[in-house]
Amino acid sequence: MNIAIDGPAGAGKSTIAKLVSAKLGYIYVDTGAMFRAVAYNCTKNGIDKDDTAAISESLSKADISIKYVGNVQRVFLNDEDVTDHLRDESVGNMASVVARIPAVRSKLLELQRKLARENDVVMDGRDIGTCVLPDAELKVYLTASSAVRAKRRYDELVAKGETPDIDVIEKDIIERDERDMNREIAPLKQADDAVLVDSSYMTIDEVAAKIISLAEEAGAGV
Ligand code: C5P
Repeated sequence: MNIAIDGPAGAGKSTIAKLVSAKLGYIYVDTGAMFRAVAYNCTKNGIDKDDTAAISESLSKADISIKYVGNVQRVFLNDEDVTDHLRDESVGNMASVVARIPAVRSKLLELQRKLARENDVVMDGRDIGTCVLPDAELKVYLTASSAVRAKRRYDELVAKGETPDIDVIEKDIIERDERDMNREIAPLKQADDAVLVDSSYMTIDEVAAKIISLAEEAGAGV
């Protein structure tokens, strides 16, 4: 059984996917972290984010893999656990630039499909329902207004002791969505058979409960 959750940046996909996967006993596959690992690899090796040839070339030397410690996904780049380097806004923005490159997408597609073949998964990303797992038993398109998404991100950063500017956060979110929605390969869009969930006025628990009930309807045993 595979559950696909797609949607724009900051819609709460990973929070929800973690809750749903824990409840169902599935593994959670965070595909954004894989694109972030490619972006991190470029930064680490001094490769310009716009140098498509160099990025494609660097992939042959970048072994990206996923391991689970308990129920938690860790991302390895050439055997180094890079998970804790991937969450910065700058890495996310750069990930959406490298995610436009065909060689990057095809390398990660293989890994994503293999994980879904071998396990029951809740997989989140941008193109899971439309491209990675077109036969997923349940597809959800999770969204919220850009203002709500920016406020959530702002609150997270404030809780970490940072002093962010909410307007800059919202502008970055809108720019990233535009890049993701307008790229040529596997753009972000709602699959025809996905259920739309707008979480702007829902709590995390309400969204998780909604998706678990959809999963049960689709045949998941709890
Ligand atoms: O979800 P997250 O913010 O970690 O994703 C980072 C970036 O990776 C996205 O903005 C998007 O460009 C890219 N991505 C993608 N396809 C996916 C998951 C993420 O293109 N399935």
